[in-house]
Amino acid sequence: ARKSAGQTTMQMERTFIAIKPDGTNRGLIGEIIARFEKKGYKLVAMKAVKPSKELAETHYDALKEKPFFGPLVEFICSGLVIAMVWEGTGVVKTGRQMIGATNPLESAPGTIRGDLGIDVGRNVIHGSDAVETAEREIGIWFKPEELVDWDQTVKQWIYE
Ligand code: UDP
Repeated sequence: ARKSAGQTTMQMERTFIAIKPDGTNRGLIGEIIARFEKKGYKLVAMKAVKPSKELAETHYDALKEKPFFGPLVEFICSGLVIAMVWEGTGVVKTGRQMIGATNPLESAPGTIRGDLGIDVGRNVIHGSDAVETAEREIGIWFKPEELVDWDQTVKQWIYE
């Protein structure tokens, strides 16, 4: 698909990606960001946060009946989270493929969780599972004015 002046015709999507406290504590921030950068995706927003309980509970609202919900929220609030928005063609699905399966031991080598994690409750990274989920999550973590409007000048070398 091609872009004409100022108009996006391809499936330009945004996804919400967060490096969890295990990833930040283990010094994996640069490694994880590098994978999305090198792929060619465009960083639209990023911030360092120690999430409140309310923020974590809202983010994981769909899982509130699960037995691991309490420990999960406590874990997410326990330290630094790097919250990001990445943009590009198919970034929601491809981002999930780059991240790997929820359980790191079931994630293929080459994926972020497959390469960098072992336990499901310490799986290093979050990524939205659908375009609608991404919109919801971006709205929870970011104000509209925190999403940066900028031109990825190398895009002609990433997209045909
Ligand atoms: N999780 C957990 N125990 C489980 C399943 C999930 O601690 O048995 C945590 C894990 O950190 C996971 C998060 O809950 O990433 C959200 O679960 P989901 O099923 O939405 O997986 P994801 O979309 O993150 O792969």
